[in-house]
Amino acid sequence: MAAPCRLISRLAVVSGGGSGIGRAVCQRFASEGASVVVVDCNEEAANKTLELLPHDRGQKHVSLGMDVSLRKNVEQLINSVQTQYFQPPSICVSAAGITQDEFLLKMEEEDFDKVIQVNLKGTFLLTQAVSKAIVSAGISKGSLITVGSIVGKVGNIGQFNYTASKAGVQGLTRTAAKELSRYGIRCNCILPGFIASPMTENIPEKVMSKITPFILMGRMGKPAEVADVCAFLASDDSLYITGVSIEVAGGLFIG
Ligand code: NAD
Repeated sequence: MAAPCRLISRLAVVSGGGSGIGRAVCQRFASEGASVVVVDCNEEAANKTLELLPHDRGQKHVSLGMDVSLRKNVEQLINSVQTQYFQPPSICVSAAGITQDEFLLKMEEEDFDKVIQVNLKGTFLLTQAVSKAIVSAGISKGSLITVGSIVGKVGNIGQFNYTASKAGVQGLTRTAAKELSRYGIRCNCILPGFIASPMTENIPEKVMSKITPFILMGRMGKPAEVADVCAFLASDDSLYITGVSIEVAGGLFIG
């Protein structure tokens, strides 16, 4: 079956595009015809993603090394995109994220702040900058996708900071949906479960073997399986979907 091609002529910004889920999203969007701006604080990784992107539908992709938790950088990013493409992005995926795991009783304040700064504030800054640009350009449709986590809903031992940041991402996405629907901008949050990526590669085997029985699909997910859902949410196949969180977790903790 031919791959769908739902994103022709669309311009997408993807943060965390240098690795894992973000990279898979960039690849999927490009294969569906979008031009992609790959953003990552690891510039080399962003450039590597860029090399992987197909451009057989006349798209122009770019990569940028930048930290999404700094307002100045995010503003520069949007200005630079508008200068290069003569339009703002109409699709944005905020996938940049970090962990800094520790038990509550031992967590340092700076480790709490760092995770909130990247995961929550970075998502706020990018979502705000892209929506402002869409609104001021008078574009009539946009799709903003944030990446939360299933553990933001249910909690996870050793992830006090991370779960707080991801619960926040879910909340801000719903509020963004309420405020931005009048401009034709849809906002939805993806809640991945355990996805095989550099972020999860250091989870000890014995921990994963305790978690796997709680995953109905009986395995970790693939970044491409998260990207499939992002492509659906970015496309016109989801025009009547906004303000929701979609679990992409293989049925984790359902039973
Ligand atoms: P990953 O570590 O493979 O990729 C994260 C990317 O974000 C990296 O390339 C990193 O350089 C980039 N990044 C980190 N801080 C940044 C910053 N300040 N500015 C710009 N880029 C920055 O992780 P992943 O598994 O692909 O995770 C992607 C997103 O999905 C994250 O938000 C993560 O919290 C979320 N998530 C992942 C899982 C999972 O099981 N892998 C589960 C739930 C949620």
